[in-house]
Amino acid sequence: MNYISTRGNTKKLNFEEVLLKGLADDGGLYIPESIQTMSLDEINSLSNKTYQEIAFHIIKKFTGKTFPDSVLKEMIFESYKNFTNTLIAPLIEYEKDKYIMELFHGPTLAFKDIAMQLISRMLDFILTKRDIDSTIICATSGDTGGAAVDAFSSNSRVKLFVLLPNGKVSDVQRRMMTTVKSKNIKILSIDGTFDDCQNIVKNLFNDHDFAKSVNLSGVNSINWARIMVQCVYYFTAFSFIKNKDIPINFIVPTGNFGDIYAGYLAQSMGLPISKLIIATNINDILKRCIDTGVYKISDVMPSNSPSMDIQISSNFERLLFDLEGKDPLEVKKCMALLSDCGKFELSKNAHLQFKMMFDADSLDTIDTLKIIKKVYVEYNMIIDPHTAIGFGVALKKPKSSTIVLSTAHPAKFPETIFEAIKQHPALPEKHKNLHSLSEEICSMPNNAQIIKDYIVSQ
Ligand SMILES: *Cc1c(COP(=O)(O)O)cnc(C)c1O
Repeated sequence: MNYISTRGNTKKLNFEEVLLKGLADDGGLYIPESIQTMSLDEINSLSNKTYQEIAFHIIKKFTGKTFPDSVLKEMIFESYKNFTNTLIAPLIEYEKDKYIMELFHGPTLAFKDIAMQLISRMLDFILTKRDIDSTIICATSGDTGGAAVDAFSSNSRVKLFVLLPNGKVSDVQRRMMTTVKSKNIKILSIDGTFDDCQNIVKNLFNDHDFAKSVNLSGVNSINWARIMVQCVYYFTAFSFIKNKDIPINFIVPTGNFGDIYAGYLAQSMGLPISKLIIATNINDILKRCIDTGVYKISDVMPSNSPSMDIQISSNFERLLFDLEGKDPLEVKKCMALLSDCGKFELSKNAHLQFKMMFDADSLDTIDTLKIIKKVYVEYNMIIDPHTAIGFGVALKKPKSSTIVLSTAHPAKFPETIFEAIKQHPALPEKHKNLHSLSEEICSMPNNAQIIKDYIVSQ
């Protein structure tokens, strides 16, 4: 399987090279040159398999010859052996044909663990084979950083730098990064927003000499490997559903368009998804884009679902490539407009297609609290604020079968949960002493050059 850049200017790479590189040299994102589709028979045959077996079946289609089968199987097994639910991503039917898929049973209580655990092992295998080390830089809106810290803390070939927006992640989220003291990890608190952090990451990748000199790689969802691993749970969800004869909609709390793009990938492979529904907070650039056809950046506003306080939804570039007839020149034009004028407009046909496949809705901070309370009172479940946004959107679709992706454990956002239901959700046993551990964090300005110098100095 070959991979190409959405901006068309680079040579084709295999999976191993794509995983190592993260972002393409032309600033674009890697995507497979073609997608292997699956028949409904093949998809249905997954129904009696375990999560790990389904993961192997799907992931193998994208990794080609990079890993021997036995190695890939072993890595998948190791990645999920510490999850606290043996199903990995259990599906809860809270009402007939209404589901929540819990993706937070990994070591840092958010869905980011599902991909990060496996990516760390894949990278270790490749780096060991090549006998090289790698520098990983990762921007986080709260959960990616923690997942990366856990996954890479014992990975001796990787030096990890996490960029988090100062004061804009929850205490629990920050502590999951800053209390794990590992020589190969540095947590940098940037004076800016998540978008600033992600722009620094892109800036570092685009300095090709620097990127080469430190073997730079990335584990944000701009790295294809994230998307590939995340598309697995759309297939496992389908395998659990009882009534497959009615249209099935997935509702995905999304900011960077990563998790929902993984659903689009599953759909492109043949999974019968009716609609992919974008659920956002007040930072609703994707909803505005689906409503108007114009993708226009505005200021990031803080909300109580901080992992989605994002205005530049990087993975949208991957969808844009398909919407604009797989034409890299069109993508380049749009991205140039975005960086010069802060906006671009979809072609008429692209906008029409976007609306056909996707829906979007948003909830503000107050409605998010109301939903957390409603779900607690009516279903006796405590859901985190990101999941609550998905749930709120599901309530507006009463007539269809919906699966809401539950992206984080409520204990990661205790202040918000308390505000909604006057109760503190219990932290799982493993994290009980999180608040008594000391923190290690380095404050940094929003300046790519200074971050670059710091990385070199380390
Ligand atoms: C990262 C994150 C999201 C958004 O994921 P995308 O990749 O931007 O789609 C939603 N909820 C939680 C809890 C997250 O950590």
